[in-house]
Amino acid sequence: MSEMKRIYMDHSATTPVAPEVLEAMMPYFSEKFGNASSLHSFGLEAKEALEESREKVAGLLGAKPEEIIFTSGGTESDNLALKGIARKNQKSGKHIITTRVEHPAILECCRRLEKEGFEVTYLPVTNEGLVEIATLESAIRSDTILISVMHANNEVGTIQPLEEIGRLAAEKDIYLHTDAVQSVGKIPTDVNKLGVDLLSLSAHKLYGPKGVGALYIRKGTRLESIIQGGGHERGLRSGTENIAGIVGLARAAELGRETMSTETERLTRLRDRLAELVLLKVKESWINGTMKMRLPGNLNFGFKYVEGESLLLFLDSIGINVSTGSACSSHKLEPSHVLLSLGLKPEECHGSLRITLGRSNTMEEVDYVALGIAKAVERFRGISALGR
Ligand SMILES: *Cc1c(COP(=O)(O)O)cnc(C)c1O
Repeated sequence: MSEMKRIYMDHSATTPVAPEVLEAMMPYFSEKFGNASSLHSFGLEAKEALEESREKVAGLLGAKPEEIIFTSGGTESDNLALKGIARKNQKSGKHIITTRVEHPAILECCRRLEKEGFEVTYLPVTNEGLVEIATLESAIRSDTILISVMHANNEVGTIQPLEEIGRLAAEKDIYLHTDAVQSVGKIPTDVNKLGVDLLSLSAHKLYGPKGVGALYIRKGTRLESIIQGGGHERGLRSGTENIAGIVGLARAAELGRETMSTETERLTRLRDRLAELVLLKVKESWINGTMKMRLPGNLNFGFKYVEGESLLLFLDSIGINVSTGSACSSHKLEPSHVLLSLGLKPEECHGSLRITLGRSNTMEEVDYVALGIAKAVERFRGISALGR
């Protein structure tokens, strides 16, 4: 069989490691293999790379280097933020506020904390996926210790009004955490402008390696570790540091910062073109979420009378790689909790397709993918019992 061109449009699931990132990482797998805790020159070399990386990641967030803790990724950062804050501050209260559209890393932490005696309010969102400030304000109680609202949603790309939420949280003296895994490196994520006390990020969503991430923790924030050991990372995250991964994350953060404005403009153009073409070519199709407060590369289509899974598999067979809902839930058959929270009916959720654009994508690919989607929908509608 001849080599088929593969088009990758699933950048919210993961991104390829940028060549510059790989290049920066390579020496730390070979000659610069030291343990950052060692006192000899191998150790010092690793320690220096670690602290330089901390400065670079802090730079992307407008934070101080000592406010960055390296972790194994977005999931661990979310766990450390939620469990760390809750367990350390429970004398002040046991109430936490989050939203119904969070990533499972947040929702499952909340379920665990509920078992530990915490109470969690899961805020509803509008049909565009937005948290309303009035709804949040009325959920705040005297025993609320933490608010966790994601910056941008991984399925529908909705960007939350974090600045406003930040002002409210500061006014009420409540810690604010944000899962910014989907937004870091793509849109501005200055922790002071956003007004957040904690922010989770993950390298593999921004052209860095898998298995490494960070948690920003504002100076003075009280939290406890969830992993005990040798006391690395200011005692908040024990375990020998993944220097190669951390160096990769730092390089990815630098690249994200440098390319952000041009990539935002380019991806927005590709995204809007793809939306326009698909809505034009496919009857009874729509966009989930909002086109206003949306990540530059995100599209989430709804199609009547078809299954997203069938579309995905057909598209894969013609070299187009996309997703239904989110990668984390696509092996389950339940409808997406995000789309349900936006008010879609379960059958409407099943006909959804998430397309997330990134650095490699071109306008030519957008045109090809629009055609491919139209062909796929037509094919399955043709054989669908529901028909038209
Ligand atoms: C991918 C993702 C995570 C998990 O990050 P990992 O590094 O894969 O553990 C958390 N939150 C959001 C919004 C994500 O998209």
